[in-house]
Amino acid sequence: MKKKQPKNAGQGIRGRMPRLGEKFRIQQRTTSLYFLLWAIFTALTFSILLVGNFSQQFIVWQSYREQIARDLAENGPIIEKRILEGSPDWTGGNYSGYIRMLGRYYDVDIFILDEQGAVLFPLEPNFNPEAPEVEDSLDFSQEIKEILSNLEADGHTMYESKSEYVYASKIQLFPNADSYLYIGKPMEFMHTVSARMNLRMILISIFVLIFSFAVTSAVAGWFTNPMQEMTRKARRLAQGDFDVDFDGTNYAKEMVELAEALNFARDELSKTDRMQKELIANVSHDFKTPLTMIKGYASMIIEISGENPEKRNKHAQVIVDEADRLASLVNDVLDISKISSGLETLKLEKLDVSAYLYEIMDRFAYLRETKGYQLIAEIDEGLVTTADEGKIGQVMYNLIGNAINYTGEDKKVYVYLKRGENGTFRFSVTDTGKGIKPQEIQNIWERYYRSSETHKRPVQGTGLGLSIVKTILDKHQFHYGVESEIGKGSTFYVIFPEVLDKIQ
Ligand code: ADP
Repeated sequence: MKKKQPKNAGQGIRGRMPRLGEKFRIQQRTTSLYFLLWAIFTALTFSILLVGNFSQQFIVWQSYREQIARDLAENGPIIEKRILEGSPDWTGGNYSGYIRMLGRYYDVDIFILDEQGAVLFPLEPNFNPEAPEVEDSLDFSQEIKEILSNLEADGHTMYESKSEYVYASKIQLFPNADSYLYIGKPMEFMHTVSARMNLRMILISIFVLIFSFAVTSAVAGWFTNPMQEMTRKARRLAQGDFDVDFDGTNYAKEMVELAEALNFARDELSKTDRMQKELIANVSHDFKTPLTMIKGYASMIIEISGENPEKRNKHAQVIVDEADRLASLVNDVLDISKISSGLETLKLEKLDVSAYLYEIMDRFAYLRETKGYQLIAEIDEGLVTTADEGKIGQVMYNLIGNAINYTGEDKKVYVYLKRGENGTFRFSVTDTGKGIKPQEIQNIWERYYRSSETHKRPVQGTGLGLSIVKTILDKHQFHYGVESEIGKGSTFYVIFPEVLDKIQ
């Protein structure tokens, strides 16, 4: 008959049993370092103890056995000789007493047996006051069989029985019957030793357990305390507390490295955080200026210049310019946040920089026509690299735009694209302006950095241009820089790796 399964068969009180994988994961999560260390330490100590105990017992047994065998091999023939010589005069003819005395002297049991295993000597069972009835109970019927089967050609044998090491030999005490000398060395001593060793092992084990608890608490604390401390601090860091300091100096090298890595992460996070705050502050400030202007001029048109077409157009133009400035600011901010946050990946393609540069320069044509700026170009043809076209266009546009903004009275800007050595080519823009002070050169690549001197510029600037250039070129891993001489002008340059197979 089919057995009825209870409804919840295989399910625990709290629902279904976790599958093996889940169980493992749960275990993984809940096994503490403390427990692991304790388990490893205890298991290790116990295995050392066990191996030590057994090997010790084995070695002691072995050497004890060898010692007994040596003693018997040495003393057996001496005892045998003395027994065959008969009891000396001073024993008063007490042969049994003499045998007992020899036994005590050599610390062995000595018996003379007949062919059936009956004890012939010592005769008097009650003679020995220490073990009066020993001989009565002795039954050598098994031993004699063993002796008989083991006896060698010379009438001697040595063997190990269950509890004794035995030296036996066939002796001729009586003319008509064979008799056998039995010398046994009991090995009970070794059993006692081994039992003591086992007891000692149990006691040591208890001690080890207590000791390993103590040691593990100390060691685990030493490991886990700094880790817990770092976890606490990392949580604070995650909540935006950049003052936390990770310290692993009093612990192992790995802890020091972990602390250093976390401190580095903290510094980077705090830098990013600071830059973000600065960016927001600067952006809001820069948004405010054109917005105020737009509002101001719009009010002026409504209130004052509305009737006067000339004034109104002038004011409306300011509004258009400021709106343009706002738009380019928004674009720059979007660009920089997209590029530096890594949201935008580079679309790397083969790019004919020579041809592309002409296109970029064309965008400045209106400045030549309206304001008399001249772009003087020397461009080597067919220079190709692998890059993101739009981004490199932005770089060249920003650098040329800056040069126009900062060039001197002659309104000349020199643009070069020259094939260089080692498979590279160099794009550079030179102006004839005031140059950049050496102490400012490092800063110009930073977001929102603007030199202290501001002047009216033909190309709109937001203070983000060079920062965008830097971010784009860093992402491409292209080499770039600036050379500048006060009073003479500046040259901004980018080194492109040349790709040799030309675009078809
Ligand atoms: P901006 O919109 O102010 O031009 P950039 O990031 O392009 O912002 O440039 C940052 C600063 O670097 C400028 O404010 C200016 O002080 C300096 N700079 C950039 N290009 C030149 C140049 N060709 N000559 C002199 N100074 C320059």
